[in-house]
Formats: sequence, structure tokens, C-alpha cells
Amino acid sequence: MKNWAGNLEYASADIQRPESVAELAELVARSDRIKALGSRHSFNTVGDTDGVHVLLDALPQQVELDRERKTVRVSGGVSYGALCRVLEKSGFAIHNLASLPHISVAGAVQTGTHGSGVNNPSLAGAVESIDLVRASGEQVTLSRADGGDFLASVVGLGALGIVTGLELAVRPSFRMRQRVLEDLPWERALEKLNAILSSAYSVSLFTDYAGETISQVWLKALDGEPPLQEFFGATPAQRPRHPLPEMSAENCTLQLDEPGLWLDRLPHFRHEFTPSKGEELQSEFILPLAHAPAALQAVRALADRLAPLLFVSEVRTGAADEFWLSPFYRQQSVALHFTWKPLQREVEAFLPELEAALRPFGARPHWGKLFSPDGYDWEKLYPRFADFRSFAAAGDPEGKFRNGLLDSILGVAVPR
Ligand SMILES: Cc1cc2nc3c(=O)[nH]c(=O)nc-3n(C[C@H](O)[C@H](O)[C@H](O)COP(=O)(O)OP(=O)(O)OC[C@H]3O[C@@H](n4cnc5c(N)ncnc54)[C@H](O)[C@@H]3O)c2cc1C
Repeated sequence: MKNWAGNLEYASADIQRPESVAELAELVARSDRIKALGSRHSFNTVGDTDGVHVLLDALPQQVELDRERKTVRVSGGVSYGALCRVLEKSGFAIHNLASLPHISVAGAVQTGTHGSGVNNPSLAGAVESIDLVRASGEQVTLSRADGGDFLASVVGLGALGIVTGLELAVRPSFRMRQRVLEDLPWERALEKLNAILSSAYSVSLFTDYAGETISQVWLKALDGEPPLQEFFGATPAQRPRHPLPEMSAENCTLQLDEPGLWLDRLPHFRHEFTPSKGEELQSEFILPLAHAPAALQAVRALADRLAPLLFVSEVRTGAADEFWLSPFYRQQSVALHFTWKPLQREVEAFLPELEAALRPFGARPHWGKLFSPDGYDWEKLYPRFADFRSFAAAGDPEGKFRNGLLDSILGVAVPR
């Protein structure tokens, strides 16, 4: 079994599709090594195991709205695409989406997946409670009232248990307009970065860091937000655009200010098409928004080194949250994303140089994308890192949910 990008063949010895949570709990209890997979959109080995791989698609796929509480309960294997359609039919929405709706809710939340918007927390920010099967097979539900256990478990890197359900906060459905602007001068961008990144509900900049302009700015505005008259020297695109200049905009959500539903504007890519480029790799580094101009300059200085490897880079933002291992933990952030050509050896050889350039800004890597795990001082980056490690070790003393990547981050659970 491979991941979505096809750069990784999982090491699983056995693939299981339990049909009930009770069956899953028994499977976890009797397995030595076990991990869940969602839609397999991660680029690294965070979800790998040489034991049992569990897919949750044979479990009942529930989406239950509670209009009074303004929450929805979803089963672990449900994708955002499926969830959004059910929510919209009932007149509800979630606050934000990643660039693609294809990913599973549980898998996305476990890695701290996010969209953009200075006031929008990551997708984990909507989680009100989480149902887990722990290493012993015990089933638990943790909610905000459970404090640290909950804050550790939501962005849990799959190390704390198998997520069988989540309760997410919802809000009334809303409408949006999407506009792409072209050729934003770097000079204006660096001078007015906060204003630019705050200029709509969700803002993304697409660049290859070379030259004097940022090639595209994607603005996703709430329908009521006033249209912009002038945009820092950038010009409105006259036709729909794909972030990659050579790709057709057919697989992108509608632009040119055409009003539409939140679920048809928040992602960049449409559910019925292949998202992004398809044959690609990704990395992303999240750091305090206050450091964004200096961090962007540091990456610009590497433009020549990036050129042979990069399809395009995206700059997004996110609000602070409280989840112990969330890359957005307690800091309003900018996220510097890199869509790489499928040249894994070359990308991995270059990553330490990029990571060194971003280290002075306290960059935290996206847990589901490519990074060099040995290059980080995790305790310095994550104030609750030691607490997370102790909690993970207590809940999974035999290291059932571990793999090589998690051991290199969290320390080896049990020597094998
Ligand atoms: C084209 C593309 C675009 C992307 N765009 C974005 C973006 O806009 N923003 C962003 O932040 N990221 C983005 N990503 C990255 C992606 O969102 C994350 O890698 C996310 O984790 C993928 O979710 P998944 O369901 O595929 O999880 P998987 O890759 O299947 O698993 C990820 C992790 O979650 C764990 N996991 C999965 N299901 C469960 C479960 N039920 N219980 C416990 N643990 C579980 C796995 O063990 C693993 O550790 C993108 C990826 C691709 C391929």
C-alpha cells in the first residue's frame, strides 16, 4: 500500500478493516504494533508501521449534527468532502478547510492540518471532543473539560490512540468570493505584509521566491467583505488561475469574485479532481507571524537553490491554539509551504539548508510533510513537549503506535 503521492510504500505486514469499534478495540489490544491511516495524504512516515495498518472505512461512517449545541459528530474515517456536503445540506459549515477536501478529518487533525486566515485556527481548532481507542484497547472520550489529556490528544501524531470519532464546532453556512491577483511586488509585500495577509478571511501567496514579484495572491473573502479597489500594486487576474502556471484552472475552485458556498471556495482544489499537481512532494514550516518578513527574506536568499526543486511555494497564516504539539501552539503564525518536484533524494538533501535558514525564527515543521527530524530542539519549540512525551509513554508503554519517525521525535518508546 502506498501513500497518495506514491513516494512511500508502507511497511505494514497486515491491513485490517474492522467493522465495529469493539472489533477495532480488540485488534488494538492484541497487536504489538498498530497504526491507523486516513486518506494517506501525508508525505512522510508519520503514519507508517511494520505491524497492523488499520483502515477505518468499514466502520459505520456517521455524521450527526446537533443543532442545539452547534456541533457535528463524525466517525474517524470520514473525509472533509463528505462532511461538508452533509453540513451544507443542513445549513451549517466549518470555519476553515485545507487546500483540498479529500483528506480524512481524523488524519488531518492528528497532524495539525490547516487552511489560511490570520484569525482562523487550524482544523484541530474546531474539535470539541475526541473518541480514542488507547493502546490497551480501552475506549475513551476526551473533551475540553479534560484539560491536558484533551490538549495532548487532538494533534497527537497518531501516537496516542486510534481516533474513532470527533465532535466539531459548526457555524451557520456562509457564502464567499474568491479573487486571484497577479504580480504583487515583493517590496510592497514585505513592507505591508500584515495588511496583505489580513486583507480577507483567508489569504494565500504563491511564489517561487525568484524575481521581483509574488506571482499570485488568492483572496477568499466573506460575501459581505467590501471588494478591494487597489491591492498593493498587484493586478486582478482576468481568467481563472491554477497556482502552477502551466496547469489548467479546471481543477481549482471558482474565482473571479463569483459568489459561492464556503465549501466551494475555502479549498483551492475541487473535490472531483486531482488536487495540486499530483506528482509532487511537500514540506511546510510554521513560525510566528511577527517573523514573517525576515523569514521570507531568508527564503528569497535561497531562490537559486530552490529553483531546480520547487513547483511553487504558498504562504498562509493561522491563529494560535492550545494543542500541545500543534505547530500553531500559542502563536499566531505564518506557514511557508513548499510543493516540490518528485525528487525526494534531492529535496531531502536540500531540506537541512532550508531548515537552517528558518531555524532562527523558531520554525516548526508540518507533521505530515517532509522535514529532517534530527535538526530540531523539540523541547525548545514546544513548551509542553516533555508533557506530551510522558503522556504518550504512559498511554502506550509498549510503543504500539510508534514507528521510526515518531521514535526519532519522541525518543524510543521500547528498545526493539
Ligand atoms: C495535495 C495535498 C494538499 C495538502 N494540503 C494541505 C493543506 O492545505 N494544509 C495542510 O496543513 N496540509 C495539507 N496537506 C497535508 C495533509 O493534510 C496531511 O498530511 C494530513 O494529515 C492528511 O490527512 P490523511 O487523512 O490523509 O492522513 P494520513 O496521511 O492517512 O495520516 C496522517 C497521520 O494521522 C494518523 N491517523 C490517520 N487517521 C487516524 C485515526 N483515525 N486515528 C489516529 N491517527 C490517525 C496517521 O497514523 C498518521 O500519523 C496536503 C496534502 C496533499 C497530498
